[in-house]
Amino acid sequence: RSRIRNMVSPEKLLYKQPSVLVGRTDVVSVTPWLAPIIWEGTFDPVLVDNIYKPMNLTIATTVFAIGKYVRFLQDFLDTAEKHFMVGFNMRYYVFTDRPHDVPSVNLSQGRHLSVIQVPGSNRWQEISAQRMEIIQTTIERQIRGEADYIFCLDVDSKFHAHWGSESLGRLVAVIHPGYYEQTRDRFPYERRPASTAYIPMDEGDYYYGGAMIGGFVEDVYTLAKVCRTQFEEDAGNSIEAAWQEESHLNRYLLYNKPSKVLSPEYLWQDFKAKTKEVKVIRFSGVIKNYAEVRSN
Ligand code: UDP
Ligand code: MN
Repeated sequence: RSRIRNMVSPEKLLYKQPSVLVGRTDVVSVTPWLAPIIWEGTFDPVLVDNIYKPMNLTIATTVFAIGKYVRFLQDFLDTAEKHFMVGFNMRYYVFTDRPHDVPSVNLSQGRHLSVIQVPGSNRWQEISAQRMEIIQTTIERQIRGEADYIFCLDVDSKFHAHWGSESLGRLVAVIHPGYYEQTRDRFPYERRPASTAYIPMDEGDYYYGGAMIGGFVEDVYTLAKVCRTQFEEDAGNSIEAAWQEESHLNRYLLYNKPSKVLSPEYLWQDFKAKTKEVKVIRFSGVIKNYAEVRSN
């Protein structure tokens, strides 16, 4: 794929003057390594889209729907068509053991969906482990030649509002909605030094959600490969990290800083009441009966 071009703003595009003095002060919108943290009110969606759209980018979205999780596909895809990267070329890659249960969804122009059959599993922990491996191998085989950016998302979720090109970057992670008010020693990182996902109590930036990773295809490829290798190394030592690949993801991102961080607007949970700093919920996990949906 061609490299991403410089950001060129279309001539004569009218938008509100950016201010050096006035902006959001109730939230932090840049990390200490100077990656933007994306909150409503910190970007102009029309301007950002006008910069990225002429690049004619293709965005890949991977989503796993194994076993009963196929039931989440309809809402996931319907709402993605309404809110997610609208106006961009999109390639959805749906990984499932039940290809016949994948709903047919009306996709807008320039948007495609491929169904890729993968084995089912009795243990949801194993599915979690397989995700990184399948993302890695599918990037090698297919996605590398078909897309510029990639997002890997949880299927048990819905889009509720605009999620656009403001989220594009080299390596993009999302702040988990459950822990952003906590101190780092309270984060549910893997705490056993014997695990390759280990993070000591006095380290850590944010607690990132495992339901979304994104970025340039090659950067997400490296992330998936490293997380998979470390997961397998742990398995060889009979260790499973506290939150499976989310733990490995957090470890990876601590030492490989994301270039862009999405606020919890981009990963909320339906059971959680909106807080005052979250002006808009863009994407959230639906409420599910864990025991029922993870059983065969
Ligand atoms: N998943 C799946 N089938 C399963 C369990 C998980 O397809 O039986 C996939 C699905 O894409 C799901 C993701 O793995 O969104 C993460 O699992 P889950 O949502 O159950 O974890 P949680 O978000 O509740 O931590
Ligand atoms: Mn989920």
